[in-house]
Amino acid sequence: MSALPGIDDALSLVLARSRPGAVEDVPVVEAAGRVLAADARAAVDLPPFDSSAMDGYAVRAADTPGTLAVVGHAAAGRPEERRLAAGEAITISTGAVVPAGADAVVPVEQTSGDLDVEVVTLGENIRPRGGDVRAGDVVVERGVRLGPPQVGALAAAGLAVVRCARRPRVAVLATGTELRPPGATLAPGEIYESNSVLLTAQLAQAGATVEVLRPVADDAAATREAIAAGLEADVLITSGGVSVGPHDLVRAALAELGAEEVFWRVAVKPGKPIAFAVRGETLVFGLPGNPVSSLVGFELFVRPALRALQGERDPGPRYLSGTLARAARRSPDRDQFLRARRDGGRLEPLGGQDSHMIARAASADALVHVPRGEGDVPEGSTVGYLPI
Ligand code: AMP
Ligand code: MG
Repeated sequence: MSALPGIDDALSLVLARSRPGAVEDVPVVEAAGRVLAADARAAVDLPPFDSSAMDGYAVRAADTPGTLAVVGHAAAGRPEERRLAAGEAITISTGAVVPAGADAVVPVEQTSGDLDVEVVTLGENIRPRGGDVRAGDVVVERGVRLGPPQVGALAAAGLAVVRCARRPRVAVLATGTELRPPGATLAPGEIYESNSVLLTAQLAQAGATVEVLRPVADDAAATREAIAAGLEADVLITSGGVSVGPHDLVRAALAELGAEEVFWRVAVKPGKPIAFAVRGETLVFGLPGNPVSSLVGFELFVRPALRALQGERDPGPRYLSGTLARAARRSPDRDQFLRARRDGGRLEPLGGQDSHMIARAASADALVHVPRGEGDVPEGSTVGYLPI
């Protein structure tokens, strides 16, 4: 029996085919979740002017402490044009331009009086122009997936539009004569089609746009036709039909349609029968039908591929480390991924680790990596895991 590729070798084969694609300009207000395709540089100094960090009085530090004459008012968006002279103060609000001649702001809490202000302590409280970022400097680097802090920063730096990787277009095709949509009445032998729902959720997180194709029965012609349609996408994910049974038709259909199979089967549990193929620019992942196998196969191979297609740095999978709360038996020839619950840094593997047990997996928030080998990984060991 020839050894199957391990997860690292299989991932390398996937990433070698997952090159960044087209880019487009995206309004910054819609850019959360997108990956920057070019460094984004500040349009202005930030702050654009020396501004007050407090509500209080703009003063000359040399005049403090002391009693000063209030000669003007500066508010956010309403600069005071008058220049501050010796013995003078200008009321100022947070975010207002510090008037010429002033070199400190004394918070209102550190003063008393009204028209004449008595300054009791010295204040600094000036946010210097460009103290956050300077015009022309990089605010967010290319390859970063934008989250709330990043889009906030881009907007603050004056950018209305940013260049991003186009979202990969992903087609999802479930195969299986037994599949019915959730909500339908099941006839004997039928089950609910859940993988396309699970995959759609994973894909949305991964920044893809998803087209769910109508599921196909285990019929060669129908499978071929549906796959041909799916090959128009950037990525086609099929579900089911990649094992060794007479009704497993996906690989044959892909071959007939001219897709090159890069690998079939990986030394991993669950998810061993996964297939990866390419046709032209289209990547094809043939995920096994068991829902937990599909879940794991996506996290190990599809999510990293989507990240790489979007030019994201560090396509992953991004392992965190935690402590195994219970010993785990290794498999001699396959890396395993156990569904587990996180409790602080401890990882408690769940009961019900069979690859069809998606309901059990619903209480998991981690996939714990148990490398292949002999014996147990002892309780208390540090292990890698993927958050899910
Ligand atoms: P297969 O990979 O086609 O041999 O399917 C393996 C197992 O997964 C079988 O028990 C199928 O009924 C089940 N299965 C296949 N596709 C789906 C799907 N889309 N949703 C839920 N279960 C599925
Ligand atoms: Mg099947």
